[in-house]
Amino acid sequence: MRLTLAKFGLDATFLSWIDAIYDNPTGRVRVNGALTDSFQVRNGTRQGCPLSPLLFALTLEPLLSSIRLNPLITGIRGYSLHHKVSAYADDLLFMLTDPAVSLQEVVSELDTYGALSGFKINMNKSEILNISLRGTDTAALKHRFPFRWCAEKLCYLGIWLHADVSRITSLNFLPILSVIRQDMRDWSSKYISWLDRVGVLKMNVLPCLLYLVQTIPLQVPRGWLAEVRKLFLNFVWAGKRARLRFTTMFKPISSGGLALPDLGSYLYVNHLTRLLDWMDQGSTRRWLDLEWALAECPLWALPCLLQRHVPLSSRRAPAVGCTLRYWLRARPLFALSPSSPLLPLSHNPALLSVVSALVRLRFTTSSCLRAHHLFADGQWIPLAGGQETPAPTFAESFNYAQLRSFLCSLPYKSGLLRQLTQFEKYCVLGNSLTRSLSTLYSMLQTFSADLPSFVGWWDDMLGDNLPEKHWAKTFYFVASRSPVSRFRESSYKLISLWYTFPVQTVRFCISATDICWRCNLVRGTYLHMWWSCSRIRPFWEAIRKLACHLTGLDLVLDPRLFLLGQTDLPYKSFKWSILPRLFLAARSVPPLFWKSNLASPLREVLLRMELIRSAEQLLYPKDRWDEIFLRIWFYWSEFVSSSKCTEWLQEVHDAG
Ligand SMILES: [Zn+2]
Repeated sequence: MRLTLAKFGLDATFLSWIDAIYDNPTGRVRVNGALTDSFQVRNGTRQGCPLSPLLFALTLEPLLSSIRLNPLITGIRGYSLHHKVSAYADDLLFMLTDPAVSLQEVVSELDTYGALSGFKINMNKSEILNISLRGTDTAALKHRFPFRWCAEKLCYLGIWLHADVSRITSLNFLPILSVIRQDMRDWSSKYISWLDRVGVLKMNVLPCLLYLVQTIPLQVPRGWLAEVRKLFLNFVWAGKRARLRFTTMFKPISSGGLALPDLGSYLYVNHLTRLLDWMDQGSTRRWLDLEWALAECPLWALPCLLQRHVPLSSRRAPAVGCTLRYWLRARPLFALSPSSPLLPLSHNPALLSVVSALVRLRFTTSSCLRAHHLFADGQWIPLAGGQETPAPTFAESFNYAQLRSFLCSLPYKSGLLRQLTQFEKYCVLGNSLTRSLSTLYSMLQTFSADLPSFVGWWDDMLGDNLPEKHWAKTFYFVASRSPVSRFRESSYKLISLWYTFPVQTVRFCISATDICWRCNLVRGTYLHMWWSCSRIRPFWEAIRKLACHLTGLDLVLDPRLFLLGQTDLPYKSFKWSILPRLFLAARSVPPLFWKSNLASPLREVLLRMELIRSAEQLLYPKDRWDEIFLRIWFYWSEFVSSSKCTEWLQEVHDAG
């Protein structure tokens, strides 16, 4: 290990630290609570040490590089690389051709490495999957090598591989459904609020699915996506009737949705991130080299070519073809159409002449010259060199004229001059996009950022057209202003018209009446039940009085403020005030007395406020809490301990 690390250029100080850790290490084993005597550990890395995986990977490197350099071991030829072995910690995957020779060499490499390092191969855990050998050859090899020969499939890092590519998706995507089903059953038995169920899906289920989707960029089996969606919705609604449209549930929280992960969009996003990888010419990802070889065309040229110019081999290569098909469907959204400024000039079969390297280098250092390289501010960039660059030769000028005449001949040439879209900018940047999956997912979400349908209902009820930026505030304060999720939940239910009301029940139950079941006087509309009913009015008046007392502001008793949290107060001062907390607490009380004619008591609001306060106190670190307490909770605390509080409670009680 020491020699390897030194070879990698780690300096003497660092090596002496490693020596200190690994000089005479000992171990003890705990059996039923009792520790054994200590014994010496002679090989392996220290368990649980964060350095261990790195040390292991580095010490395995001599084996891997010896295999890569061994000319007798033949693997799969990519476009420019030779692929023989993949390693993830101690999980090794060899891709061998000519197994009679290669396999023998691999075994002897492993033996040599084992003898030097003490690394042992577990033959029983080593498996071979035959992709293309004929029966007689296989029989001879099986006799020679004592590995486990897999009948038809092999599992590497949790993914089933099969000699027939078309079977890989069904082998992996179908079993995951029963895994998710079981997982959801396990979670269902616990009490989880409706909003937190969305959280469970995001934290627990989504990563498993994304791992599969990202590792196997092939067409998912028919019906699979619909099944996943059904499972998600069933889980969120706990098997009951859905109360929201699923398009609303998939929307981001800032647009009034629940941010339920939409796997359909993730499939698109996954292929778009692959596209960005294709565009990144400096990438060292080895799969790009294999895909390039299969596609028989540079991958970065493919997305912007006219459909009829995409080589047949590219369309037929399983993963490449699948990404291209997804791309074709997603393209209208991202405006990266054939009229894109990213139209490649290098490797474009429609362009009969070849782009000269000298001309290309005058416009870009990238290995691909694209249409947008030739324009600046909608004008052609002349080829004639500036002061530092030499004047163009005749051949260069001729080549440049060819390119210009080709671009001018295109029927959609005006599109070439437009500004780059956001996605096109990412493409030009190559792969410098961090967290590309979530960035692109949010980008895709902005295309469905229109407000949910319940917003229109509120406009009708209030006889007002509430501006979009006010709704953004509503959603923000519902989603993020309390650590207690059930209060967020009841506010969300309020704004999404969750609760049934008399005027609505009349529509599906003839014997019902549309008169308010509390006051028995007026038609029970949603707004009446929440706001104007004489049985609930004193409650909101008390909340207003309390809010004015706590903040010193003169607040108007308006459902837009108290029910929806829409206010002209500056964002920040509203956020750091007691108001959003008080409203969240208050809104969660009327549903408790929804069908009863008892008035909602103020006492319940006080109890809820205390819950929010203690949750916030737990959430923030001690030093931060002092500041938050002074800004937000000071006057509240003072009020609760004053005689005024008891007085008011009594007043509201009497009024009710
Ligand atoms: Zn009423």
